[in-house]
Amino acid sequence: MTQKIIDLRSDTVTRPTAAMAAAMTAAVLGDDVYGDDPSVNALQEKIAAMLGFEAALFLPTGTQSNLCAILSHCQRGDEYIVGQLAHCYRWEGGGAAVLGSVQPQPLNHQADGTLLLSDIAEAIKPDDAHFARSRLLALENTVGGKLLPFDYLQQATQLAQARGLSRHLDGARLFNAAVAQAAQTGGDARTEARRIAQCFDSVSVCFSKGLGAPVGSALCGSRDFIARAHRIRKMVGGGMRQAGMLAAAASHALDHHVERLAQDHALAQRLADGLAGIPELLIEPPQTNLLFVDLSGQAQPRAAALLAHLQAQGILATGLYRLRFATHLDVDAAGIDRAIAAIRAFFHA
Ligand SMILES: *Cc1c(COP(=O)(O)O)cnc(C)c1O
Repeated sequence: MTQKIIDLRSDTVTRPTAAMAAAMTAAVLGDDVYGDDPSVNALQEKIAAMLGFEAALFLPTGTQSNLCAILSHCQRGDEYIVGQLAHCYRWEGGGAAVLGSVQPQPLNHQADGTLLLSDIAEAIKPDDAHFARSRLLALENTVGGKLLPFDYLQQATQLAQARGLSRHLDGARLFNAAVAQAAQTGGDARTEARRIAQCFDSVSVCFSKGLGAPVGSALCGSRDFIARAHRIRKMVGGGMRQAGMLAAAASHALDHHVERLAQDHALAQRLADGLAGIPELLIEPPQTNLLFVDLSGQAQPRAAALLAHLQAQGILATGLYRLRFATHLDVDAAGIDRAIAAIRAFFHA
């Protein structure tokens, strides 16, 4: 008997639910390059209103969304200040530099995922012919599964604004951040998402991560900003035609898959609790849906052996530089318990 695969590699691996698939099939379509797809237009209006922006743009990926954002905020020879581990610096092939001649100014993260305010302030260059023009601060929330403290977000974005920089949020997992923040404040997730977003001039969100849509991201900002991003999206090949099928999936996700992210967070905690006490494992307490685990001692060979042991039992995780387990719509408590048992067996724990 083959067991169901427990895929904890990423929250991007989900398949559309039956209800989402039905919404996709029922979507009214048009040609979005002509601006004619009612489902795309409705999604853009919905996400812009939800997060408190004038306008939004639907894009195929978060990478393209961040690229269009950076190229809309910056000109050739400008620079953006960003974390060393930020997706839009480290994990997007250097696109802003390659395609936009926009130079990154990466800064080291603190353990909580923040960039020190003093590091940001020092990185902003004086107006002098020697320097690139500091133009943009790009933050990410959640970053490495961590929720940036809200007062920090306010301070960092106020600092940037006071020094004349624009502010972009890579909120690929904005709604995970919002749900975690709501758990702290006792507020509701949608209000928290909007409070976070309103610290920024532009925000990118992924529908294809924890929200469970097959494809798609949205970039939100002012009308002028989105008009510039729209031109760049076309230039980089992101003008999609009957994209309303995808927009309908994203719209369904916004209606039905936001608050349930709390379940993913609880499952990441369940996994962390289940692995507690294994001496070889250093477990970073999860704040949202990503659990990072380091192996003590002979780390790399052990990590590869552990991943192979898990794979043989139909349990998938990643170990690019640390072990990472992502919870999502297509994993349940029984799957997590299977993963716990398999990992404990590997360590004879
Ligand atoms: C996944 C991700 C992206 C990019 O999304 P793609 O759709 O895979 O291009 C951007 N930023 C962060 C933080 C992400 O996790």
